[in-house]
Amino acid sequence: MAKNSCIGWKFSGSEAAKKASAASLSTYTSKLFAMCDPQGKPILPPRGETAETCHTAEKAVVKAVLSGTGNAYAPGIGLPAAKCAVAEYLNRDDIPKKLTPDDVFMTVGCKQAIELAVDILAKPKANVLLPRPGWPWDIVRCIYKKLEVRKYEFLPEKNYEINFESVRKQVDENTFAIFIVNPHNPNGNVYSECHLKQIALLARELGILVVSDEVFRWTVFGSNPFVPMAKFSTIVPVMTLGSISKGWTVPGWRTGWVALNDLDGAFKCTKVLDAAKQFLEINSKPPTVIQAAIPTILKDTPVEFFHRRQSFLRHKADLAYSKLKDIPSLKCYLKPEACTFLWTQLKISSFVDIKDDEDFCEKLATEENLVLLPGIAFGLRGWARHSVDMDTATLEDAFERLKSFCDRHSAIFELNSVTKGSMCIFA
Ligand SMILES: *Cc1c(COP(=O)(O)O)cnc(C)c1O
Repeated sequence: MAKNSCIGWKFSGSEAAKKASAASLSTYTSKLFAMCDPQGKPILPPRGETAETCHTAEKAVVKAVLSGTGNAYAPGIGLPAAKCAVAEYLNRDDIPKKLTPDDVFMTVGCKQAIELAVDILAKPKANVLLPRPGWPWDIVRCIYKKLEVRKYEFLPEKNYEINFESVRKQVDENTFAIFIVNPHNPNGNVYSECHLKQIALLARELGILVVSDEVFRWTVFGSNPFVPMAKFSTIVPVMTLGSISKGWTVPGWRTGWVALNDLDGAFKCTKVLDAAKQFLEINSKPPTVIQAAIPTILKDTPVEFFHRRQSFLRHKADLAYSKLKDIPSLKCYLKPEACTFLWTQLKISSFVDIKDDEDFCEKLATEENLVLLPGIAFGLRGWARHSVDMDTATLEDAFERLKSFCDRHSAIFELNSVTKGSMCIFA
């Protein structure tokens, strides 16, 4: 028989997802981890590990497994008990119109919530406002759906508030929404109530809706408390996206939600509500067994669990931020008040042989077995994101490696060693 490769096969892989997948975070992560040397120092951050979740959540899932309540298919829009529990949970917030279970849809993590938002709103010639920098799943999805993206910027010196001028500049008659991330990944800030209100007023003036990704609302440890965007749904319709992934450190459980905060029926009359249901009819659902555990997870997780996690992260963010004092080639505008990262600007001109953020991260991975993500992965050249979610000894190790790497490649350091060397000769 002839070799298979000699046959003129009529099938081939589609390139539909090629451009979109290149923009995904995991493309960058996989590439950088592959550059580390498995025989060398321990690779940091340790891959595939997450902090322990709370016992209440584990027990709730075990119970759902043993009782069989999560063995069947769930309805497309979500298990009624889960929808009800999410509505009740979000109604604990001070929001003008309480959610009903009908306003909530269960999704495969917050990622599918983002996909839903993009897919049901995308139209030919339409465009959407996304943050630069921003966690890139919305970009990935927009590229895939061929939806035009316009980027708005931040004011690093002003606590990373949104630069409203940059929003206005981008908007035209085909803009339909602004996506915000609060708390923000990677900036690490939390928007004040006043700033959220300004966002709502601006969106109303522009006639666009606000999609608010609030997946990090449980990991807030600075002085600004978390305020949900839904608080301003009297001003503008708000689509709130969330999941248990980050708050309970269980991203593998793949369960999240979309909540439509719609004061006077705007989502209904614009058919957004119908489109959301139709999207979920034709897409995969979160595992029923986790949905069945959601009521207990949301109701019974003790607040101490979140407090412990917040104080752990506060301590790590403080430590990481203080270490930056010894690394003059990195600049951090804000000590993180949320999330699990340090977001720093690279002073590229202070390095002798580093071209840009990608080059920085690739050399760092190769030389130090330490993975930082380049700013370009979040849409912004010249920056890097450093995870702080690790124990103290590991974090200190990571920063020692980072410091010695930066010193080794930095112009100031070279100059210093030369002068010091020559001093020795003449002393
Ligand atoms: C991690 C993350 C998500 C994805 O959440 P999943 O529930 O794991 O799908 C969405 N948005 C932001 C900002 C994130 O950091």
